[in-house]
Amino acid sequence: MKPSANHMCASLLSRVLRFRGRIVASVLVAGALMVAGTVAHATEPAPTPLLAFAARVAGDDARTRVVVEFDRKPEFSIHYVANPVRVVVDLPETAFGLKAESLEPRGLFETIRYGGMGAGSSRLVLTSKGPVAVSHAEVIEEEGGKSYRLVIDAEKVDQTRFDALLGEQQWTGSIVAAKTDRPNVAPAQKSGAFVIAIDAGHGGIDTGAIGSGTKTEEKHVTLAFAQELVATLNRESGIEAFLTRDKDVFLSLPQRVQIARNKGANLFISIHADTLKQKDIRGATVYTISDKASDHLAADLAQRENLSDEIAGVPLQSEPAEVADILIDLTRRETQAFSVNMARTVVSSFEGQINLINNPHRHAGFRVLQAPDVPSILLELGFMSNKDDEKLLLDPEWRKKVSGLLAVAVRRYREQAVANGG
Ligand SMILES: [Zn+2]
Repeated sequence: MKPSANHMCASLLSRVLRFRGRIVASVLVAGALMVAGTVAHATEPAPTPLLAFAARVAGDDARTRVVVEFDRKPEFSIHYVANPVRVVVDLPETAFGLKAESLEPRGLFETIRYGGMGAGSSRLVLTSKGPVAVSHAEVIEEEGGKSYRLVIDAEKVDQTRFDALLGEQQWTGSIVAAKTDRPNVAPAQKSGAFVIAIDAGHGGIDTGAIGSGTKTEEKHVTLAFAQELVATLNRESGIEAFLTRDKDVFLSLPQRVQIARNKGANLFISIHADTLKQKDIRGATVYTISDKASDHLAADLAQRENLSDEIAGVPLQSEPAEVADILIDLTRRETQAFSVNMARTVVSSFEGQINLINNPHRHAGFRVLQAPDVPSILLELGFMSNKDDEKLLLDPEWRKKVSGLLAVAVRRYREQAVANGG
């Protein structure tokens, strides 16, 4: 992440917070943008998801039209995010029964993603090659209400115009407002139990890596493993394990950290199974956080994992301002020592039992590992770019075995932590 991008996002966030509560309709004045309505209110009883059953993209490098067909009338709102330029379309909860190729990017857009965002909402994120503006957006009723067509027209604009659109808009909703609170030095502890947050990487609109053989999405692999791991850990006495997400929904990286902290987690384990260009590389890796990456592979991987919020169209937030606080700093250092212990314990529990990458404990700047007060590791179970690893990752028996080994590691770590007053 370039520092300039961070600063830009910080100022965007402060504007977002300042403008919260103003009505979405004022976007009309700012950007000649037609907004058909706002996203359904979260407190209403959960309706059946809309069905998006067809879509198409047409256009060139100057103008591009995106059309999505729904079974019922979709309320929607449109926002912009910078670095890279994205048009974010928020929708009520939607089941996307689309052929993948129907939203293949073309024209102004180089990536198009869609999926659930949690709290009864879904999202379409159109990533553009350069600055764009939505010139027209509307929902058209078809055949007397049998279906509804959402039409979004985007056009190329200059940077000044895009910056103006970005500055004038405001967001509502929970995703962007999920700011990491000031860290508590002493978080609330549960009734003596050892609390473990198990974080299934990716989810919803963020599919994660795609397996090279079966095209399996990483978000499903991580959730299946996380569920097995929580069940295994909860069979141990004195341990309370829970999932940061228990279904296919998107959580931002700060939200994952915050969920763990709010529940007073003593340990945070984020589960992943990525792909690499080097298809022969296989085996598990355990990561801890560090300003400096241990090697290129770790740096690349952290960079890709950190893209999660970008994929989902969440404006990145600035790092917490309290980093300089001496108490936080001491807590961080102590937490870091515990994280490294946990990583080593996991590696030694895996050794000789399952495949490990060379140098299986590595470090890099993973945003999901930055809780100042919760020892955190990120576990890459294996690589879905490797056929043998992919097979194992999809095997429930293998998941059981690895969960058992992790439970052993947790037990050992906990004994050490108790001995060291942790
Ligand atoms: Zn991942």
